[in-house]
Amino acid sequence: MQKLQGIPASSGIAIGPIFIYQPVTPIVERRTIADPAAELARLEAVIVTAGHELEALKIKTQAAVGTEEAQIFEVHRMFLEDAAFAGEIKEAIETGKINAEAAVSQTVTALVEQFEALDDDYFRQRAADIKDVGQRLLRLLSGAGGSSLAELTTPAIILAADLTPSDTATVDREMVLGFGTATGGATSHTAILSRSLGIPAVVGLGPAALDLAPTDQLILDGGSGEVWVNPDPATITAFEQRRQAQLQDQAEALRHAHQPAITTDGRQVEIAANIGSLADAKHAIEMGAEGVGLLRTEFLFLERSTLPGEEEQYQVLRTIADVFQQRPLIVRTLDAGGDKQIPYLDMPAEQNPFLGRRAIRLTLAEPQLFQAQLRAILRAGHERNIKIMFPMISSLSELRQARAQLDQAQAALAAAQIPQAESPEVGIMVEIPSAAIMADALAPLVDFFSIGTNDLAQYTLAADRTNPLVAPLADPLHPAVLRLIRQVIEAGHAHGKWVGMCGELAGNPLAVPVLLGLGLDEFSMTASAIPAAKALIRTLSVPQAQQLAHTCLQLTDLAEVQQFLSQPF
Ligand code: PEP
Ligand code: MG
Repeated sequence: MQKLQGIPASSGIAIGPIFIYQPVTPIVERRTIADPAAELARLEAVIVTAGHELEALKIKTQAAVGTEEAQIFEVHRMFLEDAAFAGEIKEAIETGKINAEAAVSQTVTALVEQFEALDDDYFRQRAADIKDVGQRLLRLLSGAGGSSLAELTTPAIILAADLTPSDTATVDREMVLGFGTATGGATSHTAILSRSLGIPAVVGLGPAALDLAPTDQLILDGGSGEVWVNPDPATITAFEQRRQAQLQDQAEALRHAHQPAITTDGRQVEIAANIGSLADAKHAIEMGAEGVGLLRTEFLFLERSTLPGEEEQYQVLRTIADVFQQRPLIVRTLDAGGDKQIPYLDMPAEQNPFLGRRAIRLTLAEPQLFQAQLRAILRAGHERNIKIMFPMISSLSELRQARAQLDQAQAALAAAQIPQAESPEVGIMVEIPSAAIMADALAPLVDFFSIGTNDLAQYTLAADRTNPLVAPLADPLHPAVLRLIRQVIEAGHAHGKWVGMCGELAGNPLAVPVLLGLGLDEFSMTASAIPAAKALIRTLSVPQAQQLAHTCLQLTDLAEVQQFLSQPF
């Protein structure tokens, strides 16, 4: 029984068959060709194969899901016969004398642009279909086998080199038992998304994970990071029992998830959710979220090929805010860069993307982009409880510039008599060590702080959160990070400002008592962690948590902190 060790990313146990996901994003080179007939023949051949693939998928989906769901593959198949699609590609080869790949790419781009410009959901969906068919043709032209997550029709544990946030977000929850990736760290955005989907995940398993045979069976423990290959029956039984027990605990916590988190001595803290989409918003409500401590707006920019305009952003934000009614919704302005690249923003390649033009640095450099987003947020905040938060603030001057941009957006809306949020609260993420150290100077300029421990840990410990070789070093329980957290909470409170946390630490059961003891006012976490966090807080008293925090903050080594917090108290 082979065992692999990775980094625990999303707790829970998965047992089942594997599906090795090998996405292919073929690089399309444009070549002039001498023999269009040969290119046309290549194209015809892959069109036939694509037709067979789609037919097979349709039959599989019909049996596994239903006739209606299977229809989508019929639509894709029809594109292969369509004059405006297949016909255009052939035309481009014949008249443009270009290779088949370039002809596919050029036709798909043009059609997608036309459809997306049509501000209509139906046509937008068709644009996504055209892209999908285009990818299928390019994959077949490149000769790569490959597979797509959408083609999964039986539940399996997905193994991949890495998953992009859009892979993880678009996956059919019903078909995924768990995720395992060769690369990545616990606070990489793929790991965060797995947690928000409540799917067990282990990241950073190393290349061996991709050498497994498609027939192998696995046990994946997202809590410990362990993965067993072809486990024996006794091991399977033991893990199945643990899985059932965990599911029962979760169900028990869920029963009380809609009640507040009040300590045994009567202190109530706010438990909010981190979300990235409308689907997350609905899930968060089901899990008992009392609001949103972090809306990662960048996820509204991924999975598309053009920049969403002000109106579109406004509509999405409004819809999400309405799910929460009058509960607070903290909208963070765009945090693109780092491991969240947005291709159509034309972001230049950087040596160190996490130290590059990310988040507020990008939006300050692109005022048009920033204004459109700020206006959309302000408009959505009209008669709704929206707060605005700036990511990656590293200095007072940066915060002043961001606030000046906000003033400008407010003034422009007022001048045009467009309804907007009335004096929304404005806060910052404290996720760069310089901001934590300068928290007392920043506090007078904000209404709140939200501590981003994912980045605060990676920047404090100089360890890339997505690199499995060093990601475990960026542990937010490190004493250096805990001291910064204490400093930020104290500075905020000294200026009468509330302090929350939206880094993954806020939902970590080991950390919750310490954070409570340090006086954290708001805990914002992945929705699936909410029921257990609330249940835990209900067992604690403030003096007990303060005592625990006091002792913990005297420790000087990460291992000591981990060991200390793992003991029952
Ligand atoms: C953080 O850095 O802790 C955070 C919440 O932001 P993100 O994970 O989106 O970088
Ligand atoms: Mg961050």
